[in-house]
Amino acid sequence: MSISTTHNNKLLKAILIGALAGILCGWFFGTAMQAVEWLGILFLDTLKMTIIPLIVAAVISGVASLGDVRKLGKLGGLTVTYYAATTALAVLTGLILVNIIQPGTGYDIQHTAVAGTVPGKESIGFVDIIQSLISPNLIAAAAETQLLPIIIFCLIFGAALTTTGEKGGPVINFFHGLNEVMMKIVIWIMYFAPVGIFAMIASRLGQAGGGAAFWNEITQVGWYIFTVVLGLTIHFFVLLGILYFFTRRGFAYVNTMLRALLTAFGTSSSSATLPLTIECAIEAGVDKRAVKFVLPLGATVNMDGTALYEAVAVMFIAQAYAVSMSFSEQVIIFITATLAAIGAAGIPQAGLVTMVIVLTAVNLPLEGIGMILAVDWFLDRLRTTVNIWGDSAGAAILENVLE
Ligand code: ASP
Repeated sequence: MSISTTHNNKLLKAILIGALAGILCGWFFGTAMQAVEWLGILFLDTLKMTIIPLIVAAVISGVASLGDVRKLGKLGGLTVTYYAATTALAVLTGLILVNIIQPGTGYDIQHTAVAGTVPGKESIGFVDIIQSLISPNLIAAAAETQLLPIIIFCLIFGAALTTTGEKGGPVINFFHGLNEVMMKIVIWIMYFAPVGIFAMIASRLGQAGGGAAFWNEITQVGWYIFTVVLGLTIHFFVLLGILYFFTRRGFAYVNTMLRALLTAFGTSSSSATLPLTIECAIEAGVDKRAVKFVLPLGATVNMDGTALYEAVAVMFIAQAYAVSMSFSEQVIIFITATLAAIGAAGIPQAGLVTMVIVLTAVNLPLEGIGMILAVDWFLDRLRTTVNIWGDSAGAAILENVLE
């Protein structure tokens, strides 16, 4: 099913060139590059088109091939433990860095040219997150690409299938077949990635007004950006270390996953990247059962990059408003940032919306978001890349618990 290694290397080179050309063209040609935006949207739409049939087929066939509901319980338990542990580690990294670097201390609030607008969604709480697991209408959930209730349904469906014996056989085979077909389509779409990623990066940079305008915005909140980027980089390598420790897979795995990581950077969406994440992980030789279980769930709930970013952003806002955060308040930030990341959908800038939970929990003004709004699209790309890396490392680690 997978395409050959030489082929992949060529494709990876083409995607890298596309990304680089996107940065250069967006930087130098600025707003003119918005003319290619439609190509990026087309790429994104082709990816999105595959998500629902792909995750339905992948999750059901993955769970069915585990063959035993107890195995599902074991894998599920360890997967949730991995998600929780790595997300908490990411928030902790962010909190330590933001306390050391103090990016917001002395920041002039007036300095920001951005209006204090909060993205148009109300705050969501813990109960909302639990409720979002189940949808009364799966078709409506699919139409809105709400993946979590669909995944939960598929997990239940797959688990039930394993108990139906001979009668369930043809149904299992159908989903195995559907999964193969969907993966083939994903491979075809991947050939479009160099152009799509080029267009998405160039047009977004163009929308920001080109290199000079973007640089101006970045430097206004330079220390904040530095703290988030440093945190994400550290977390990326910590995960790589854990991965190496448990699996002896190292940079070769990153290399195989690069196409998915670059797509995450290009699309700012874990959900849209999911088809490629699955393709690359299978190509890297990770057990398909782990891939089909850990990656779809991870794309919607495991967001290390988002969690880290939310903790740093909230502390930055507190520092800018000169509100000191006690240890216990930082514990609240720790807990709520973890929940907010779990609750964030795998779509662009979802983290900015769920940050309202964290700000409200420690009584910070929601208008503070205005300070970081202008650069958020850029940090979103970086944190989405780390989110995808968190899921990918998880699949490779958790395959080891399967016999
Ligand atoms: N865009 C991120 C993702 O899809 C979520 C976020 O942090 O906004 O993973």
